Amino acid sequence: MMGPAHSLSGAAAWLGVGAAAYGAGSPMPWPVLVSGALICAGAALAPDLDHKAATISRAFGPLSRWLCEVVDALSHAAYKATKMRGDSHRSGGHRTLTHTWLWAVLVGGGMSLLAMEGGRWAVLGILFVHMVLAIEGLLWRAARVSSDVLVWLLGAASAWILAQTMDQPGNGANWLFGEPGQEYLWLGLPIMLGALVHDIGDALTVSGCPILWPIPIGRKRWYALGTPKPMRFRAGSWVELKVLMPAFMLLGGIGALGALGYI
Ligand SMILES: [Zn+2]
Repeated sequence: MMGPAHSLSGAAAWLGVGAAAYGAGSPMPWPVLVSGALICAGAALAPDLDHKAATISRAFGPLSRWLCEVVDALSHAAYKATKMRGDSHRSGGHRTLTHTWLWAVLVGGGMSLLAMEGGRWAVLGILFVHMVLAIEGLLWRAARVSSDVLVWLLGAASAWILAQTMDQPGNGANWLFGEPGQEYLWLGLPIMLGALVHDIGDALTVSGCPILWPIPIGRKRWYALGTPKPMRFRAGSWVELKVLMPAFMLLGGIGALGALGYI
């Protein structure tokens, strides 16, 4: 899928988690619901850091372009090192290492640790990166015609405001993990979820997605998981724009109502 559909699906997924959390007796304070939905929308763009034309690879100027080259090389190396006889030959790393459950868990876990141990600046940094991505993803067309600097300023401002809000007692720093010292431990959850939702979105498209790596399936370790072939669609096709994106909006709206206890 393309950036906007990925971001919308990420936001909808977190709002759905909000509804589930409400049902399970750990309702999210509204700042957690809002920040989590935006973080998840941003994180749902992150796996495409292995592709230089992707939104995330262009979102932070030369820094993200450089990171993209590193991630692409790393992914390609991981592919070559672990491929089995059934896996085909590949010339680049796109849709490999960063498109797996293991990557999602490692990145989410890493961000949780960073947020918990790194203090205020780490939380602000994580929020900033994901706010910029969420703006790029959700306001796609509007963000593209404006300048990068404007998007960064907007990202920084929203990161600051959200952190200020969540730092207030009962507003979310301690959501789900309530022990002292566990502030913002939950921050990795929307990041992990965003990456997983991205993978599922790609699995619906023509090429599929090797989500299960490194668990081998038959003679392939990079088995491209997906829906039955005739049901798959091309990234950016009408199915994505006219069916899936409105569906994500609707589901997200229902999730938000559920998360706040209105239904
Ligand atoms: Zn992708």
